Amino acid sequence: MASSTEFVVAPSESPASEADRLEVLANPGFGVHFTDHMAVVDHTEADGWHNGRVVEYGPIALDPAACVLHYAQEIFEGMKAYRHADGSIWTFRPEKNAERIRRSARRMALPEIPEDTFLEAIRQVTALDEAWVPDVSDGSEASLYLRPFQIATEAFLGVRPAKASQFYVIASPAGPYFPSGVKPVDIWVSQNYHRAGFGGTGFAKCGGNYAASMAAQVEAAEHGCAQVMFLDDREEKWVEELGGMNLFFVFADGSIVTPPTSGTILEGVTRMSLVELGRDLGHDVQERPISLDEVSAGVADGTISEVFACGTAAVITPVGSFRTPEKTWTVGGEDRSEELDESFPVTMKLRTTLTDIQYGRAEDTKGWLH
Ligand code: PMP
Repeated sequence: MASSTEFVVAPSESPASEADRLEVLANPGFGVHFTDHMAVVDHTEADGWHNGRVVEYGPIALDPAACVLHYAQEIFEGMKAYRHADGSIWTFRPEKNAERIRRSARRMALPEIPEDTFLEAIRQVTALDEAWVPDVSDGSEASLYLRPFQIATEAFLGVRPAKASQFYVIASPAGPYFPSGVKPVDIWVSQNYHRAGFGGTGFAKCGGNYAASMAAQVEAAEHGCAQVMFLDDREEKWVEELGGMNLFFVFADGSIVTPPTSGTILEGVTRMSLVELGRDLGHDVQERPISLDEVSAGVADGTISEVFACGTAAVITPVGSFRTPEKTWTVGGEDRSEELDESFPVTMKLRTTLTDIQYGRAEDTKGWLH
């Protein structure tokens, strides 16, 4: 039996043809096409983590009584592999994703995958399917999105932590998140729903958090908004985050505020990187609670000059407005310039600084690339 960091590789006998792959890579979209292989590692109480393997991408056989299908004992990660100009392929701070999936596992009473197993699974899939990592020599932002996830597989309908689970890594080529260029998004301030509660699972990346956010997403779409902003559940006063991105507020005096990761919001890898890069660029970056009242007053009177959301998928997205049933607050005022470098200068500077590191256009002085 292979140890948890040794993967037995069984290459696919029917990988996509080069022509099919190139057709996908010409217009990959997001999360719709998958590479030829996936990594799998099993866990049982008796054997621990074992049987690491890389196999053909395809359907998973699960017992209909598998815990994950009933009690949603599931966690996942999201990260990207980037191709640099010299053809080499890099991931960004993958050890932070390994740390986070282990934190998520503890919260969901799943076994924690060792960091070296997690990293090796990522490396195996990326190396075997390296032809699926988009070439960005034209300066575009395409990458290979990696989706590690872990599910409770034991067939048992009693409610208790499963005694068997599996860890997977699948990969999906991702085109630029904004095919027609970065555009400010409009945000719906959720009044009827919360994403997370005190003592709940907000800090964990578990499927249930996302299932619970869909109704708010539908409501946002009905009001013409692409994303939902959630407030805290106790006072319904403090800004937390979006359904899949963290939030930053740039003040006219150059200071930057982002809500603290105190248990109900996801500790984004992009977020923690931008806190550091913002400080490097000379901004006073504060991780402190910020209320909806402070945001709406600040946006209205210009004290808050820029707002942006951040996450692995879209990197940094300027926020154009906040909406409630009663009111809309437009960031930067109604006569905001269409030129993002003028209307969102700090946001765009941070965006370029981060993507230049990820795509190898700037030196990785922090050792963030692997
Ligand atoms: N918040 C939530 C709820 C998310 O799903 C994500 C995406 N993982 C983020 C924030 C951003 O995290 P990261 O920068 O690690 O992608």
